[in-house]
Amino acid sequence: MTESIDCAVIGAGVIGLAVARELALRGREVIVIEADEAIGTGVSSRSSEVIHAGIYYDPGSLKARLCVEGRERLYDYCARHGIDHRRCGKLIVAAEETEIAALRVLFERARENGVGDLEWLDGPEARTLEPGLKAAAAFLSPSSGIFDTHAYMLALQGDAEAAGAAVAFRSPVRGGHVSAKHKVVEVGGAEPMELACRNLVNSAGLGAQGVAAVLEGLPKDSIPARRLAKGTYFTLSGPCPFSRLVYPVPEAAGDGIHLTMDLEGRARFGPNAEWIEEIDYDVDEGLAGVFYKAIRRYWPALEDGTLSPGYAGVRPKVQAPGEPRADFVIQGADAHGIDGLVNLYGIESPGLTASLAIAEYVADRL
Ligand SMILES: Cc1cc2nc3c(=O)[nH]c(=O)nc-3n(C[C@H](O)[C@H](O)[C@H](O)COP(=O)(O)OP(=O)(O)OC[C@H]3O[C@@H](n4cnc5c(N)ncnc54)[C@H](O)[C@@H]3O)c2cc1C
Repeated sequence: MTESIDCAVIGAGVIGLAVARELALRGREVIVIEADEAIGTGVSSRSSEVIHAGIYYDPGSLKARLCVEGRERLYDYCARHGIDHRRCGKLIVAAEETEIAALRVLFERARENGVGDLEWLDGPEARTLEPGLKAAAAFLSPSSGIFDTHAYMLALQGDAEAAGAAVAFRSPVRGGHVSAKHKVVEVGGAEPMELACRNLVNSAGLGAQGVAAVLEGLPKDSIPARRLAKGTYFTLSGPCPFSRLVYPVPEAAGDGIHLTMDLEGRARFGPNAEWIEEIDYDVDEGLAGVFYKAIRRYWPALEDGTLSPGYAGVRPKVQAPGEPRADFVIQGADAHGIDGLVNLYGIESPGLTASLAIAEYVADRL
């Protein structure tokens, strides 16, 4: 059976849902095609749930622009939809004197990105804010926060459906062919079907390269290699010792093993960064030693026996180990020559924060 529709969006993670909402609010006819049986079961459900200010990214990059823009829109959206969130602020910490130069670079980069509310602190000033902290210097980002990511995705789905969009679950995309004039997606599952659409968005997260690879007509040299960096979390028993998020100076593949808390005030640490070949969410309890060591650099009072294995997520990367941090890759016709097709690759952090801005960026290209 072949159905036909204006816009098909592959993947009901935060990006697919935000894109579907944006297109539906613009009056477009939209269906979201999701392989799993629920929304947000992929990358979007295994994050730190942090609203990022826009500190880490190269000035002028999509990550920087869409994070800064998306962040304020996200706070506003959470407030208007009653989604639990807190603008709790974040400290980025140079635990040792030797890290202050790198911290200063980050501080200047953030200001270039338009994060204008940062406050530089010396060690004693940082400890006035968070007495448990070991810091040679730090800076405060008041506009960083936390939010309930699942409630957010439910609200996006609700908005999209209220504007006429539909979400089809248990509908894995198995193949298709694309040209500027015709796009057909082959959907598997219990009732396989073909879906013809004028516009197609591939926001399949970790599956984006796999989906792109089975779309006949898409130049295969436009598909970046998929790399995976696993991030594991440990949780802290007992009360959270800090009232703000605490991040070390970042490392190569991630933001460093940081402290975040959930909206109930429970503390968790992570994610670390480990390059892997296959998607794997097992939590290696043997990493505890690495976590104690990394956390004690900025919180020396962490007691033995207080960390428990938490959960793991996998970052969809487009850069290989050792390469510089890559930007989001959002490809429209300028990149692959096919009008009405947008492929999104490497939508790692700050994808949740940037999601409303990414959705607008994608919709503008269709
Ligand atoms: C460890 C970790 C921590 C993070 N922390 C933060 C943070 O604190 N703040 C922040 O802003 N960002 C954070 N991020 C980034 C953020 O989680 C992602 O950018 C975002 O969730 C990506 O959403 P997505 O919709 O692209 O992918 P996903 O949520 O993975 O959605 C893709 C969907 O596509 C579906 N799919 C895949 N293949 C197919 C197919 N063939 N057919 C149909 N459907 C398919 C999947 O089932 C899935 O539901 C973090 C990421 C990680 C890994």
